[in-house]
Amino acid sequence: MMSQWKDIDLIANEVNSGKTTALSLVEKSLATIEDKSDYDAIISVIKDRAIERAKSIDARIVKGEKVGRLAGVPFIAKDNMLTFGSATTAASNILKGFVAPYQATVIERLEAEGAICVAKANLDAFAHGSSTENSDFMVTKNPHNKKLVPGGSSGGSAAAVILDMAPFALGTDTGGSIRLPASFCGAVGFKPTYGLVSRNGVIAMASSTDVIGPITKNVRDTAIVMEVIAGQDTLDSTTIKLDSYDFIPDKYSLKGKTIGVVKEFEGSDISKPVQTKFGQTIETLKSLGANVIEVSFPLIEYSLACYYIIAPAEISSNLSRYDGTRYGFSDSKATTLEESYNKTRSLGFGREAKRRIMLGTYVLSSGYYDAYYNQAQKLRTKLIEEYNQAFKKCDFIITPTAPDVAFAIGENVDDSMKMYLTDVLTVGASLVGIPAISIPANVGNSLPIGIQIMADQKHDADLINFANALEGSI
Ligand code: GLN
Repeated sequence: MMSQWKDIDLIANEVNSGKTTALSLVEKSLATIEDKSDYDAIISVIKDRAIERAKSIDARIVKGEKVGRLAGVPFIAKDNMLTFGSATTAASNILKGFVAPYQATVIERLEAEGAICVAKANLDAFAHGSSTENSDFMVTKNPHNKKLVPGGSSGGSAAAVILDMAPFALGTDTGGSIRLPASFCGAVGFKPTYGLVSRNGVIAMASSTDVIGPITKNVRDTAIVMEVIAGQDTLDSTTIKLDSYDFIPDKYSLKGKTIGVVKEFEGSDISKPVQTKFGQTIETLKSLGANVIEVSFPLIEYSLACYYIIAPAEISSNLSRYDGTRYGFSDSKATTLEESYNKTRSLGFGREAKRRIMLGTYVLSSGYYDAYYNQAQKLRTKLIEEYNQAFKKCDFIITPTAPDVAFAIGENVDDSMKMYLTDVLTVGASLVGIPAISIPANVGNSLPIGIQIMADQKHDADLINFANALEGSI
C-alpha cells in the first residue's frame, strides 16, 4: 500500500520551506478521515482548531519564522488524551459531554513543535480490551479486512495510520494496547520505558504500567515522535530522566548483538503462520550476524494472571472518580447522592469496565488482598528479577507480538478468557516496565504479523536502532 504521506521529517521540511502548506496537509487528513469513516476509527474530528492552527503556522512561515520539527504534520490522538477543541470520552458513555479543561503534556509537546491534532481515535472504553470491541460507541474495522478487529485498545489509532488518515497517531499501552493493534494492522507500535513519556492529561487505566507511545508507518517516524514527546515533566512525578534523548536511528549493525528467544513460548499456543514468520525472522537475524540464544523465564506462564489481578485492582481505584459529580454524564433522575452515584455508574460504565471494577475490588478486599493482590505483586517482583537476569545474557528479547493474526469481529466477545489470552506475549514488558516495539512482518497479500522486540529499561534508543535495522528485512 503506497501512502499519501511522506516521512514525518520530510513533511515538516516541506512546510518549513514553504513547498507545501500546513493547511493543505490538514485538509488532506480531514478529507481522508471523512472518506474512510466507514471504518469507524475516529470518534471526533477537531476541525476548526486544526484549521486555525494550520493557518497560523502558514502565516508564521510566510513571515520567515521556523515553526518546529513537526511543522504542519497532522496527527491523531487516542481519545483518552485530553485535547482542546473536542470532547474527550475514552470511548465511554460515562464521559459523554466532558470537555477537557487542559491539554495532555504529550499533545502540548507535539503542538509546540508545530504538529496539529486533527482527530481523536476510537478505543476500547478506558483502554480495557484487545480488539476495540469494548468501545461504548462503535467497533473499528481492520484496514485489511472489515470483518476483522483492528486489535486494541488503541485500535482506532493503528487503523487510522494504516488507512492513511494522518502520518502518525498516539496510543496508550498498559498491557499491550499499542503493540497489539500495531501488529494486527501492520503498523509500527512503540511502548517506551515506563515513565519516559509524561502521562499528565491522559485518562489513567492502570497507573503502574500505563505508558504513551507513537504508532507510525516506520521506525524512523517513531523515533522522531519520541524525541518530541519523551522527557521529564513536573506534572507527572513518575517521569524519568535519560542521559540522551537522541532516538533517531543511525548506522547500526546487528552483527554481534545477542538476541534472546523465550524458551517457554516455544510450542505454546501460537498459530502456524505466526510461528512460521517468527522462525523466518530468527533466520534473518542470524543471517545478519546476530547471535540468537535461548533465554528461560520459568515464571512467565503466570504473567497474564499477574497482570489481570494488578490491572483491575488499579482500574477499580482509578475509575472511582467517575461518580456523576465531576466529569461528563450524570443521571439527572437521581434524587439522592447515593442514588446518583449508583445510577450514573450503572448506566455510564459498559460491561468490561464493570467486570474490571468488580474484579479489582475483589482482589483488593480484606480477606482476598493477601491471596491475590499481594501474591501478584510478589510475582511481579520475581518477574522483574527474571528479566534482569535475561538481560545479563542478551541485548534484546524477541517474540511474536500476538499469538495469531487479527481475529473476526464478535469471535471472542463472549469469552473473556480467550480475549485476555491475546495479551499473553505483551503483558510481561508492561509489568516489568521495559521498552517494547512491534514491527510489521508479512505485509503484502496476507494479514500482517507483528514481531515484538524488548530491551532493558531505558534502552529505548538501542531498541529503536535495532528495530530500524531489522524492519526492512522481515
Ligand atoms: N488488552 C489489555 C487489557 O485489556 C491491555 C490493554 C491496554 O494496554 N490498555 O487490559
